[in-house]
Amino acid sequence: MADIINLLPDNIANQIAAGEVIQRPASAVKELLENAVDAGATEIQLIIRDAGKELVQVIDNGKGMSETDARMSFERHATSKIQTIEDLFRIRTMGFRGEALASIAAVSQVELKTRLRGTDLGTYIEIDNSAVRKQEPCQTAEGTSIAMKNLFFNVPARRNFLKSNAAEMRHIVDEFIRVAMAFPQVQFTLNNNNTQLFYLEKGSLKQRIISILGQHYNARLVSVKETTDYMDVNGFVGKPETAKKTRGDQFFFVNNRFIKSPYLHHAIMNAFAEMIPADSYPLYVLFIDLDPEHIDINVHPTKQEIKFDDDKVMYAFVQSAVKHALAQFSITPTLDFEL
Ligand code: ADP
Ligand code: MG
Repeated sequence: MADIINLLPDNIANQIAAGEVIQRPASAVKELLENAVDAGATEIQLIIRDAGKELVQVIDNGKGMSETDARMSFERHATSKIQTIEDLFRIRTMGFRGEALASIAAVSQVELKTRLRGTDLGTYIEIDNSAVRKQEPCQTAEGTSIAMKNLFFNVPARRNFLKSNAAEMRHIVDEFIRVAMAFPQVQFTLNNNNTQLFYLEKGSLKQRIISILGQHYNARLVSVKETTDYMDVNGFVGKPETAKKTRGDQFFFVNNRFIKSPYLHHAIMNAFAEMIPADSYPLYVLFIDLDPEHIDINVHPTKQEIKFDDDKVMYAFVQSAVKHALAQFSITPTLDFEL
């Protein structure tokens, strides 16, 4: 009897995987919002109670799920977004790993309501600790509502690691803003304990920036737009006068995915050099689009760090695009119209 290896049961395997994907309520916010976007929703509501410790709910008017898909969506590696390894390098959706819902269901109690577009009856599913407790047909709006309740109720050690409500709420708002910024054509709302914190109407990127970051940016945004065969960059930087001592108004998106890149941040700071005081930060909201073949987004489960096949080209391109934009506006400042 020397054999000692056994396979972990699904719920334990899922709980372990969840440790990478779902670290705090804000991680679930990101995953659920991205799923709603991937489902083609044009209106997305985020509802929070107790800084997400009690409830994180996302309601969307996207394409919804069939009864079978609704059940399948909670299985590990269950995804409608890729089928082959090649697809990974053509990815245009936010999700593709098929881990988010399985992870969420492993560390909370989940209630799903969904109705496939064009069908009459929806599906209701209740899951607790990876196990389906209830499944039945239900009346519900077209689209999907997923409620994650009592995060980490079954993993007390992790629950104890959660920070104060104020700190967890800041993480939630950060994730909400990152997704909302990338999809100005989608309406987003955020409610916390029955108070509406954000109501973001559909509109232009400029309107979205102003409604998230403040009216003072109106007439103080400089458009950045440049195209090559390899990639293009689009978006806005703040006029030098709006640079702040604090960070927070800096956003980088690659193929609509928010990423953290100290390297590209540096490229922008370089473009601003001399125009702003030392240790102050200009606003930027920049979208880089390029063929997914040039990037690897699968280097980290949360996909916030990505690899480019040519870092130096990116750096030079971003820096020169921002420089051109700044030069343009200082020669012809009257070209900057009011909203
Ligand atoms: P991934 O997004 O990586 O595919 P998820 O675990 O987040 O994995 O979701 C699994 C699958 O469930 C998705 O591929 C999608 O088909 C379906 N799904 C999840 N959320 C939604 C939603 N809000 N609307 C429609 N389908 C959804
Ligand atoms: Mg997903």
